[in-house]
Parts: sequence; structure tokens; C-alpha cells
Amino acid sequence: MARTPLIAGNWKLNLDHHEAVHLVQKLAWTLKDAKHDFGTAEVVVLPSFTNIRSVQTLVDADKLEIGYGAQDVSAHASGAYTGEVSAAQLAKLGVTYVATGHSERREYHGESDAVVAAKTVAALGAGITPIVCVGEGLEIRKAGTHVEYTLTQLEGSLAGVTAEQAPTVVIAYEPVWAIGTGEVATPEDAQEVCEAIRGKLAELYSAEVADAVRVLYGGSVKSGNAAQIIGKPDVDGALVGGASLDAEEFAKIARFQ
Ligand code: PEP
Repeated sequence: MARTPLIAGNWKLNLDHHEAVHLVQKLAWTLKDAKHDFGTAEVVVLPSFTNIRSVQTLVDADKLEIGYGAQDVSAHASGAYTGEVSAAQLAKLGVTYVATGHSERREYHGESDAVVAAKTVAALGAGITPIVCVGEGLEIRKAGTHVEYTLTQLEGSLAGVTAEQAPTVVIAYEPVWAIGTGEVATPEDAQEVCEAIRGKLAELYSAEVADAVRVLYGGSVKSGNAAQIIGKPDVDGALVGGASLDAEEFAKIARFQ
């Protein structure tokens, strides 16, 4: 099955709503200017919650071919969960993607695989595509157990996701040692784990599901390394942090092909 590549920009805790609108506008112009060599990749940005409504207004008004999502979602539907934002609230704002289990959420907010799975299920329930993030830290990479570690995390983070829902899920392999560090995994490193992730999806669900799911790589992706990494057979795009805050750089990553 031909999988549509996905390039998602995780803006993290950056930009106010004016800056977010400006960046989306600039990204749209840059992508449009490059239309002749802009391939078929789907382009998505993940602003802070406070900026989603502004991005929605711009995307809708100008009919931009840029998707937008959120960086996190509550596992709960409603109730006494101060500070949380539900999947239904996000869906109402036209959100189509949400990152679940980003390593910064796992590390700074103590999110376990069970919590990540509950958030993933909540997103799916509201018709939002979860981008489920998995990946090992440096110690595990050095110990050579990164594949086993990542696959265990994957299985735990997909608990409760049904075989019917699974094909729409996106997985992002993000080795923690490569996030925001400038240390990028080699294309072979990315392929090794992305291929193993696909194998695990076949075991958990079916060969058809494994074939349909998009598996991204994330970790210090830039225009200079994107093409080699995304060119690998099991890598279907990228989750981009720092470089997604620069419209020209992000547009170059998006037209890697
Ligand atoms: C990320 O935040 O998911 C990420 C991959 O960040 P960076 O590209 O800055 O390493």
C-alpha cells in the first residue's frame, strides 16, 4: 500500500497566537512557491492549545492545505480535571492530529504507557489521529536494547486500540537522545527501528494494519538530513521540533522528495 508521507511540526511551548498565524502564513506561501517540487506529503503543525483557534481561522479562511493538531490531549472526556483539554474540545476546533506520549510529556509529566494509551484511545474516539511517540533514551541505546525497549513501549501505548482503529494511527519513533540535541540518528538507525515497529504492528494486529500505518522518525530532523532518512522504506515522514519554527526550513523538509 502506498502510504502518504506526513511531515508534522511540533512547535512545543513556543509562539503567541499572532506569531503562530504569521508562521502558518509564511509556511503556506513558501509551500505554494515551491508547488512544482512539493511532493505529496501531508503537512501538519502542532501549536500550543491557545493558538489552535487562530490557526483554524486562518486555515479555513484561506483554504490552506496545512493541517493542524495538538501536542497533548486529556484521557478524560469531561469533569473535574483542571487544566486538561478533551479530545472532543479539540475535534470541535477542527484538530485532526494529536501527539500522544511525546518524550517530554513522559519525562516531565510522568506519563506512563498506560496514560499514553488512554490518551490515544480518547483521541481516536473523537475522530482525531494520534501520533503516538515512542523511543529510547541514551543509556538504552548504548546498551543495545533500543529495539526491544521501543517495541515494549509501543505495545503499552497502543493498549485498547482496536484492529479497526489501528490503521489510522501514526507512530513516531523518536529516540530521546536525538530530540533537540542536534544528534540525529543515521538513516539506517531510523530504518532499523521503524521496520521493527512495523513488524510489531503485524504481530499485534495484522500484516494489513502494519502496511497501512505511517511510521515517522523524529529527532533533530533538518533539511540537510530529511531526504536520506525519509527515503528509507519504513520511514513515512518526520516529526520535526526545532526546525518547524522556521517556515523555509520546514518547507524544505516537507518537499524532501
Ligand atoms: C520533537 O519535538 O518531537 C523533536 C523531534 O524535536 P527536534 O526536531 O527539535 O529534535
